[in-house]
Parts: sequence; structure tokens; C-alpha cells
Amino acid sequence: MPPVDIYPVNEIFESLQGEASFTGTPSVFIRLQGCPVGCPWCDAKHTWKMVPERAISVAAMRLKEASPCDSYAWYGVQTLADIVRAADAEHVVITGGEPCIYDLRPLITKLEAWHHRVQVETSGTYVPLVTPSTFLTVSPKYAMPGGRPVLDEALWRANELKCAIGKQRDVGIVLEKLDPIHQARDIPIWLQPLSLSSRATDICIRAAQHYGWRVSLQTHKLINVR
Ligand code: SF4
Repeated sequence: MPPVDIYPVNEIFESLQGEASFTGTPSVFIRLQGCPVGCPWCDAKHTWKMVPERAISVAAMRLKEASPCDSYAWYGVQTLADIVRAADAEHVVITGGEPCIYDLRPLITKLEAWHHRVQVETSGTYVPLVTPSTFLTVSPKYAMPGGRPVLDEALWRANELKCAIGKQRDVGIVLEKLDPIHQARDIPIWLQPLSLSSRATDICIRAAQHYGWRVSLQTHKLINVR
């Protein structure tokens, strides 16, 4: 694991959180580089690899275009915290890539000391090294090409579970593996239709109605913001 006080950042931007419990919340997004999970439908494939030749300076990051790009810069905790502090939003989303590759506690501790609420979005394939008050969104990715197992330590730490649904059999996995956690800890399960297809959306709606789960519609895509 790299040193804990610097992080490889693909991009930092302000937008609305479009998914699950914080839908509609103005947020600062910190997207970290690196993910070995390999989901075929991933819409952030440019974050997967950390190619040393694609590392750029923090100064160059300010000029980076918003379009998906695999370049990244190493940011220290203080620099990241200063950027977040200068933004309008109080809610901070650390996403990826897979942010839980890294020990996030130094960064989150600093942000929380400045009264930001921090949400981390993870695949559940790493032990989340976060603070006790971090809001953890676990979107478990089972049987992906990267071969990483989903960990109980992540699932049982989750504040919400968010599940990509493409086919009816995905609902069976949620019922078997995640509904017991939903029942035991009274945390929400969000079903998110893959690619917002009408078929997947219909499966999600019917399952949410039947099992008492919820549907997350990636509203940022519906209103065409990042
Ligand atoms: S875990 Fe997230 S970033 Fe990694 S491949 Fe899957 S969807 Fe993409």
C-alpha cells in the first residue's frame, strides 16, 4: 500500500450526488485512480490502471479537461483538504476507481475536522480503512474478472448497499447475500438499473416493491450533469 498521506487523484469536481441516500446533495467528488475489480460495464475504466507515465503534477491537474482521461496526480492530505474547503459543498464523496485500496483515514480525519461529511463509495473488495463516522456506500461486485472476493468486513460496515441490476438473477444474489444485512442492521438496499435500461428498471421496481428495497436512478445522468 502506498504511503497513507498521499493519494493518486484522477479528478476533483463539484456536482450533485446522483445516487442512493444522498441523491440531490451538492457534493465535492474526489475520484482516486486504481481499480483491479474489472466490472465489464464500468463507466470509469480510465481509472483502472496507474501507469507511471500518466502521472502528472498537481499544477497540470488544474488544466486537465473534464473528459475521461487516465492521467492522475499525487495529492497530499493538506492540498486535498484545501481544495475541498474552497468549494461550496459540505458533502464530500470519495470514489474511484476503488478508493478502499488506500488507507483513507488521514484524509477523512482532516475533512471531518473541518466539518465535512464524507461518503466513500466502494466495491466491498477491500477492508475499508475509514473513520467511524464515514458514510460507507458498498456496491458489492461479485464474480468479476479481477477475481477479488466481496468481504464481510465491508458489507457489515456499510451504511447503505447499492446493487447494479441487469438481470433477474442479480435480484437473487441481493436476496441471498445482502438482504440478511438489510434485515439485521436496518440499512437500505438500493437497486440501480444497469445503463438505466427499461428492462433493468422494471426488474428493480418489481423487486423493490416485493422486498422493501429502494430504486436508485443515477439522476445525474437524467439531468445530464457529471
Ligand atoms: S469496482 Fe467500480 S471502478 Fe472498479 S471496475 Fe467496478 S465499477 Fe469500475
